[in-house]
Amino acid sequence: MNESCIFCKIIRGEIPSTRVYEDEHTLAFLDIGPLVKGHTLVIPKQHFDSLRDADPEAAAQVMVTAQKIARAQLNGLGADGVNIHQANGRVAGQVVPHLHVHVVPRFKDDGYHWNWKAGKYAGADESNGMAEKIRQGLKQTA
Ligand code: AMP
Ligand code: ZN
Repeated sequence: MNESCIFCKIIRGEIPSTRVYEDEHTLAFLDIGPLVKGHTLVIPKQHFDSLRDADPEAAAQVMVTAQKIARAQLNGLGADGVNIHQANGRVAGQVVPHLHVHVVPRFKDDGYHWNWKAGKYAGADESNGMAEKIRQGLKQTA
């Protein structure tokens, strides 16, 4: 737990939230600024700033709950699809530094557009170089 963290305060019930689901390790509640109505956040009850710091077990528990919420949005809201979004670091758009997964219900003609602009590698040298750097990064990861 982190004293000043807004999501830890939600877990402790110190600030209000609209809870959807909770279990021993995770909590799901409505995002206060929904991309699409029903947009839900899933968080671990233990504080981690981001995915980088999280125990793999906690990361897995959060994803299992995100799947439950996605299924519940499909079944309960009649959503036609679901987007999962998860930001790490300011540059990635993370505003609240407590690991969280966005589960966003999608409906035909909901008016929301993912800002997905596909890029291009110059060639195999560049893509192979990127893959090799990531493989090297795996060696530094516990
Ligand atoms: P991110 O940009 O990935 O860090 O997302 C943070 C999310 O937390 C945003 O979508 C906010 O709308 C949401 N948020 C911030 N404060 C609250 C709150 N008190 N209750 C519910 N959602 C919140
Ligand atoms: Zn926290």
